[in-house]
Amino acid sequence: MKKRVLVTGAAGFLGSHLCDRFIAEGCEVIGMDNLITGDLRNIEHLFPHEDFTFYNHDVSNYVHVPGHIDYILHFASPASPIDYLKIPIQTLKVGSLGTHNLLGLAKAKGARILVASTSEIYGDPEVHPQSEDYWGHVNPIGPRGVYDEAKRFQEAITMAYHRFHGLETRIVRIFNTYGPRMRLNDGRVLPAFIGQALRGEDFTVFGDGSQTRSFCYVDDLVEGIYRLLLSDCVDPVNVGNPDEITIRDFAEEIIKLTGAKTKIVYKDLPHDDPKKRRPNIAKAKEVLGWEPKVHRSEGLKITLDYFKTLSEEDLYRKDHKQFDKYIKR
Ligand code: UDP
Repeated sequence: MKKRVLVTGAAGFLGSHLCDRFIAEGCEVIGMDNLITGDLRNIEHLFPHEDFTFYNHDVSNYVHVPGHIDYILHFASPASPIDYLKIPIQTLKVGSLGTHNLLGLAKAKGARILVASTSEIYGDPEVHPQSEDYWGHVNPIGPRGVYDEAKRFQEAITMAYHRFHGLETRIVRIFNTYGPRMRLNDGRVLPAFIGQALRGEDFTVFGDGSQTRSFCYVDDLVEGIYRLLLSDCVDPVNVGNPDEITIRDFAEEIIKLTGAKTKIVYKDLPHDDPKKRRPNIAKAKEVLGWEPKVHRSEGLKITLDYFKTLSEEDLYRKDHKQFDKYIKR
């Protein structure tokens, strides 16, 4: 019997890569997305596939899926600081009410559920690198609080369903990830820099650029998530690439890669922007036998090639049209 897998956030960056992976593994995949930040072009190649079905649905409302389900992967959520500012309530709802609905669905179907958590649950960390036993340093009422606290609630309710209902649950803490299908205008640093390079604009580095991040290529991340799903590890696991770099050096790297004739301009650092971030992946190595394989130089080339295929319209689009209908509500 083919495994039946529900992926929420299926039209997003990570969700669409997960759909590809489960189709490649011979599963039947049900993709679900409300398309606020997702884009159907990320999954249009799957539509002709007989094992792929798509539901345009907001999982913050009751979720109904006919038939049995073996696995649920909950990846629906805005995931960039710009998105949280534009759609804060939806961000809170999908991490809390959406997760509750999917846990209920998993319980009703006897399915195993994996939820996408994040390094943001560590906030602006006082411990470096971050390992799973660190509880974090989060400002609940800052602009990122809507995401950070929703994801912290998500972890709490997921563990409660595991402990109270005996549900099979998995929690992945995802660190900064990049690759094809990121949204060019989502405000994240990598699409921001590549977009600026392709448009011939100056690179905007926030603060003095000394803050660090550690970027994981999407294929590595998907492999880690796949292994976690099939493992018996209930506690959260960090999945990310520990190769840490300052944002200033990252800008220089992309300037070199793209050959852009632009300069760096410095802008104000956003509120609560974490100063350092690097995953401790000892647990993923031990429990999943996983570590990232794709070096940034290789991953960035593939990602740049993807962004070069986008149209002029995409390159110059400043906003995501789907936001409008939600903001008017
Ligand atoms: N950043 C930047 N210029 C930009 C966009 C982001 O310098 O145009 C910085 C941002 O302040 C942060 C880092 O890059 O320190 C990563 O930002 P991103 O939004 O990609 O992810 P997150 O802060 O959630 O890790």
